[in-house]
Amino acid sequence: MALSTDFGPATALSCRECGTRYEIGPNFACIECFGPLEVAYEFGDVTRADIESGPTNIWRYRSLLPVPVDVSTKPNMQPGWTKLVKADNLAGELGMRALYVKDDSGNPTHSFKDRVVAIAVEAARNFGFHTLSCSSTGNLAGAVGAAAARAGLDSCVFVPANLEEAKIVVASVYGGRLVGIDGTYDEVNRFCSELIGDSLGEKWGFVNVNLRPYYAEGSKTLAYEIAEQLGWRIPDQIVIPVASGSQLTKIDKGFKELIRLGLVEPKEYRIFAAQAEGCSPVSTAYKAGHDVVQPVKPDTIAKSLAIGNPADGPYVLDIARRTGGAVEDVTDPEIVAAIRLLARTEGVFAETAGGVVLGVTRKLLENGKLDPDAETVILNTGEGLKTLDAVSAEARPAAVIRPSLDAFRTAFAN
Ligand SMILES: *Cc1c(COP(=O)(O)O)cnc(C)c1O
Ligand SMILES: [Zn+2]
Repeated sequence: MALSTDFGPATALSCRECGTRYEIGPNFACIECFGPLEVAYEFGDVTRADIESGPTNIWRYRSLLPVPVDVSTKPNMQPGWTKLVKADNLAGELGMRALYVKDDSGNPTHSFKDRVVAIAVEAARNFGFHTLSCSSTGNLAGAVGAAAARAGLDSCVFVPANLEEAKIVVASVYGGRLVGIDGTYDEVNRFCSELIGDSLGEKWGFVNVNLRPYYAEGSKTLAYEIAEQLGWRIPDQIVIPVASGSQLTKIDKGFKELIRLGLVEPKEYRIFAAQAEGCSPVSTAYKAGHDVVQPVKPDTIAKSLAIGNPADGPYVLDIARRTGGAVEDVTDPEIVAAIRLLARTEGVFAETAGGVVLGVTRKLLENGKLDPDAETVILNTGEGLKTLDAVSAEARPAAVIRPSLDAFRTAFAN
């Protein structure tokens, strides 16, 4: 009883494969079939007015999340309510009619990961964990470091040692422990699974492993915000980056909940998934017509998306096919071109993951899969300043001159 109150409207964990239900706890895999567990709810009456009168962060949706009712009074990062930019200039260049960029670089540690970590922190508190941890492709490590600092928890995060410099700094500056591992993200993740079973990892909450069911729910807030910011309407099409695929599956869950609760008109919407060619296991499976995803070894500048063995890959395939969307991938040069296009047209400097999304959007328009006349939202999930290397060779001064009119005139003659 006490436990279910602390988790708000969440009532159980349920297996996504076989439906077996479990009490709420720090578990993530089904004992019957090893399928992933997710949070199940019994929602009360939720109205638009209740939500609209809430705080301007993800806690305005607390009655739809596995968090206590007084969550906004606790020390946390208060992420969310990021800008939905109406991208008319970009739409013009792409020949689209109604295009929006949901710009999640505006979160406290400049990526969408602050949303998922905020939910995991509440779960960690409820379960009595003293240390917050994760395996990360970069952004998650920073979000965990900051959230742990604010919440007064210890943190110890694990990343591939070859990450971008800015992500190493962001993940270290909050005072927790950052451990670089010589290996890929998938190897880091396997190491964390071993740590959970060992006394070294006792009382540790790994946000994306043993707290994954709670963590994942944070991505629903992207769906809620997009719908509310459009005037309580689900867009026709949405393009979402895929690393593990968790974010994409939970945005779909969020839209479905809004419809079920009568907060938006029921409608069909199409979900498109975006990957980098250098790490495109889901896109490859999609194009081959497969239901299973073959792991790959990543090699791409889009390091935040470099998960070679994506846990939610099969669900992404299912959602893209069921909603009439698609999965597509782009090359590193296409990612860089897209980062520059978004910056030039809308003044939004995206990290490489945002370049993947816009690059894929462009490609889907070219191959006729995306309808240019339908209302479309694309995600920018991270901040360009964290992946400067992607564009630093091309984004240079137009000239370096002496401070004189003559020098300026000479440099820019004709
Ligand atoms: C983690 C991350 C994603 C995708 O995450 P999923 O594992 O698919 O939920 C997308 N963009 C950025 C910038 C990220 O850091
Ligand atoms: Zn099961």
